[in-house]
Amino acid sequence: MELTESQIAVRDLYRAYMTNELEPRTEAFESGEESVFPFMKKMIKDLGLDLAADAILNKGEKSAKSEVDTEMAELMRYAETQLIIEISRINPGFQQSFGVSVGLCGGNIVIRGTQQQKEKYAVPLLRGEKVGCWCLTEPGAGSDAFGSMRTTVKREGDEYVMNGSKTFITNGPDGDIFLVYARNEEDSSIQAFIVEREFAGLSTGKPFKKMGMRCSPTSEVFFDNVRIPVANILGGGNSDRDHVRKSLSRERMGISVMGYAIADRCFEIARDYAKEREQGGQPIANYQLIQSRLTRMYIDVSNARRIVESSSATAEGLSALDACAAKLFLAEVGTRVATEAIHILAGYGYMEEYKVERLMRDAMLLELGGGTTEIQILTIAKHILAE
Ligand SMILES: Cc1cc2nc3c(=O)[nH]c(=O)nc-3n(C[C@H](O)[C@H](O)[C@H](O)COP(=O)(O)OP(=O)(O)OC[C@H]3O[C@@H](n4cnc5c(N)ncnc54)[C@H](O)[C@@H]3O)c2cc1C
Repeated sequence: MELTESQIAVRDLYRAYMTNELEPRTEAFESGEESVFPFMKKMIKDLGLDLAADAILNKGEKSAKSEVDTEMAELMRYAETQLIIEISRINPGFQQSFGVSVGLCGGNIVIRGTQQQKEKYAVPLLRGEKVGCWCLTEPGAGSDAFGSMRTTVKREGDEYVMNGSKTFITNGPDGDIFLVYARNEEDSSIQAFIVEREFAGLSTGKPFKKMGMRCSPTSEVFFDNVRIPVANILGGGNSDRDHVRKSLSRERMGISVMGYAIADRCFEIARDYAKEREQGGQPIANYQLIQSRLTRMYIDVSNARRIVESSSATAEGLSALDACAAKLFLAEVGTRVATEAIHILAGYGYMEEYKVERLMRDAMLLELGGGTTEIQILTIAKHILAE
């Protein structure tokens, strides 16, 4: 795809920012020496990413959006995708925390919330002033998130009382605002609630020690008779299953973009290394077995890029089927290309300094989160066989 001048300007701005600002902080983020959240707030301000928050306060996001012309809307979609790419090329763990706080928590409140909920909760999330969490998974409810959900709510007067627990919650230890899915004890429907850290009875566990995405804190969240005002039901609605399914499709697209970005960066690192590293008196890039690995990596990366470009170009986003198909393929491209990069760098690839080992560890989550590989396969099969 040939980029317009404005698209090139956006890409260069984001790339320079992530190289100059995110990359130098990555080691401190990964070791836990520094939290990612103050930087998240700074990045949002520096790059002017809080426009949606201003639109909510000024006149409501919808009316602001309807005024932008098609060209501008296309550029905004490009910028949204490119931001994920440029962050994930440098530090996918930071994207994990940013995507959940601003996209899954803040974004869902923007899409589904009442005007009051948007002003009170979405605005500080979109500005990076508060940290958001998206709480679906439970200790006994992973792939079967709805069917096995044990977190419940019971109405008492003008409040709901929530009991249960969630696990593997991104940003849990630092979360201020939790978007929580729970089963209504009365009719078994699934509803989403906005829960504040300050509500009595909410607590979070210690950060888990993880394989990858280490700068993104993950923990359990506990609800012990948490009293939630009726006004905090997301959008004031009843059943939220459809809403969760739509959120999952958006999450899957975000994960797909991350898979492509990781593969793209690993391919670049491996190609440049192969041209420089000499063995047997010549660059290892001269050896056909190395060329074979690089060629297969390139095929994965270029196919992945085409999927990302075409899906970010559509205003409606992908269908549920295509979002699953993209997520399954691009998550696997991420881990495959990152693993190939380690083969090419060999011992150096195994060392932290060359970055590919971290990118490979980070990539692994993309095959599990947003629905495991098996769940994507089952969903794709269900759709294609229904036609
Ligand atoms: C770092 C990290 C961050 C996360 N962040 C969040 C978050 O912010 N919010 C949130 O809600 N969740 C989050 N998750 C949870 C994630 O979405 C779940 O881990 C994922 O949905 C899988 O659930 P599970 O781990 O319980 O696996 P399980 O569902 O127990 O699956 C175990 C295995 O069984 C397979 N399996 C399950 N059911 C079937 C079936 N019907 N047919 C065939 N195979 C099946 C699975 O594919 C898998 O291979 C996070 C997870 C991690 C690791």
